[in-house]
Amino acid sequence: MNTTKVGIPRALFYYQYYPIWKTFFEELGVEIVLSDHTTKSIMDDGSKTCIDEACLPIKIFHGHVMSIKDKVDYLFIPRFTSVSKKEYVCPKFGGLPDMVRHTLKDLPPVIDTEVNLRKSGKNALKAAYEVGGFFTKDRNKIKRAYKKALESYREFREKVKKGVLPCDILDKKLRKVKKYDVPNLNIAVIGHGYNLYDRYANMNLLDKLIDMGATIITVDMVDGETIKKHVKVLPKRLFWNFGRKAVGSSLHFLERDDIDGIIYLMAFGCGIDAFISDLIERKIRRNKDIPFIVLNLDEHSGEAGMDTRLEAFIDMIRWRYGNEGNVSAYG
Ligand code: SF4
Repeated sequence: MNTTKVGIPRALFYYQYYPIWKTFFEELGVEIVLSDHTTKSIMDDGSKTCIDEACLPIKIFHGHVMSIKDKVDYLFIPRFTSVSKKEYVCPKFGGLPDMVRHTLKDLPPVIDTEVNLRKSGKNALKAAYEVGGFFTKDRNKIKRAYKKALESYREFREKVKKGVLPCDILDKKLRKVKKYDVPNLNIAVIGHGYNLYDRYANMNLLDKLIDMGATIITVDMVDGETIKKHVKVLPKRLFWNFGRKAVGSSLHFLERDDIDGIIYLMAFGCGIDAFISDLIERKIRRNKDIPFIVLNLDEHSGEAGMDTRLEAFIDMIRWRYGNEGNVSAYG
């Protein structure tokens, strides 16, 4: 008997929630067809097809859908409205299934269940029943699959909080501890998971930093309670889930004595990044003389330009420690 195949694009919330989706579908006996890692052709296809106004990650998502749509019985493109109480994710997530349907032709049926946890986390189970209902009428089976999926997610989160990069966990990549002839630097990197962990989209930014002798600390490694404590200093509650995480983590990084530099990685065309990066930059400049840089990604970004900026940033930090503490922290 042929098993039903569900296509999952390796993009956007894949980097955050794939452990849940994988366990859930597998427990229901559904075969997952995951698109490959982002490549030039996936990015080019997405950029050519998607509307110009979309941000880079949304364009990449379209490229991933194109690469698997003819190989599956269903496409899994949930409509994410909110993943946390009283907060929203970006509206592009909410409109994603419609955008894909209107942009791409000859799609298999799309599982576009809404995930909206703004009022209550219990809505996650409701969404699970709806998704599971595509494959079985047995609600107990769906509930069991959902519980197992949550366990997988908890394990994933524990590893990330201990400092393992989500992309390494998802790719089952074991990093050997290398010895460098320069002192280690702790570099905090702020950005959406799909920008930080998609190696092609960010031109291997994290690996390059690690090769320069840096230990990476990302927003995802910061505990939820720590974030909550730090965002309390803001006069107004932040509306966006990512914005709250990014600002709370940045304030936490500023408080720590072991962070040597902060990088904000943003995607061209992202309104939330434009606003949040500015807020964070102002907080940093007002509170601490710590090196900070904003790096922008778009489909035309040249790798040489990215390398030069990264090398200059790391060199500047080392120079400041070495002999010229008066070198500007912001270039
Ligand atoms: S948050 Fe920004 S980068 Fe992410 S989908 Fe929305 S506009 Fe794009």
